[in-house]
Amino acid sequence: MIKILDLARPDILSLQPYQHAAWEPSLERMHANEMPWRASGDSSGAGLNRYPEPQPAELLVHLAQIYGVSPENVLAGRGSDEGIDLLVRAFCRAERDSILICPPTFGMYKVSARIQGAAVLEVPLVKAQGFAFDVENVSRIWREGVKLIFVCSPNNPTGNLVPRELIERLCRDFTDRALIVVDEAYIEFAQAPSVASLLPKYSNLVVLRTLSKAYALAGSRCGALLAHADIVSLLARVITPYALPASTVEAVLSLTDDAHRAEVEDRIATILRERARLQTELSAIPLIRRVWPSAANFLLVESLDADRVLRAAAAVGLIIRDPRSQPGLANCLRISVGSPEQNDRLIRGIAQSTGAAA
Ligand SMILES: *Cc1c(COP(=O)(O)O)cnc(C)c1O
Repeated sequence: MIKILDLARPDILSLQPYQHAAWEPSLERMHANEMPWRASGDSSGAGLNRYPEPQPAELLVHLAQIYGVSPENVLAGRGSDEGIDLLVRAFCRAERDSILICPPTFGMYKVSARIQGAAVLEVPLVKAQGFAFDVENVSRIWREGVKLIFVCSPNNPTGNLVPRELIERLCRDFTDRALIVVDEAYIEFAQAPSVASLLPKYSNLVVLRTLSKAYALAGSRCGALLAHADIVSLLARVITPYALPASTVEAVLSLTDDAHRAEVEDRIATILRERARLQTELSAIPLIRRVWPSAANFLLVESLDADRVLRAAAAVGLIIRDPRSQPGLANCLRISVGSPEQNDRLIRGIAQSTGAAA
């Protein structure tokens, strides 16, 4: 067992997991109290009358290939949100342990910690340096019991990538002391390699990937947690036994084959072009004070009047995100890069609202 597992909750380490019905596809199933017939009209591959395979082998092989790791390093779950939740539940003792986050960032880290009764330490990103990750302050603030350090890269909602060297430094500095959880939900838009290739080097590194963003499969709820095989095994004991619906597994396997992956590459290229265009055109609108550079499929903009921008977007039938409750984001809005037509409409809507006020 790797040393980093000493950080896990002792009761989870000794947990006797639920014994689900054995997966023996060569035998006919009379061991799981399922009905022997499909519901009429069920045209699924496996039959929805059957419980799905827990951690389906074919899916793990497939995800491992997409993400460039071994299948033993993959835990498949219902989006990366489930990975976040499993990590917090398996590593943080309620009322005793904590996580560390760097706001403004993705909201689920804090929510999962709160639900588990874990404390949340915050080391803000440095806005004056383009929301840079403050590794010195992370080291200064860390104390025993801080089990998980979340690094969102590219960060939601600021859009910046955290440098690979910095992530390596965190992995080294916190060897056997904390897991470095790198959330790469948007890495496909960053034109930078995933840090998953560092997994063989650092047993305290965890990488979260998702099919919700670049792969256009948010509704299927499928994500992958990539980590040392011992961490994957531990979390596989905590995840609900039949976490992934059969329909999700079938959809993911068929919608992420080679042809779809080529389509994903084309669409990413379009999003990057549109991101650059939105960046330029929004920057030229007087109501927009600044557009932050982005390595993701969204832009963080600072406006002279965020309420007016929200109204202007709604007036042309679009909703954009209002993240102003987060520290450091006064007057800011987050805009997902849409289709060329949607982006045109948004730009026109905001530009005209400026005109109307002049
Ligand atoms: C969207 C998002 C996710 C969510 O992913 P699911 O796989 O859909 O659960 C995770 N992390 C960040 C930073 C996100 O923005």
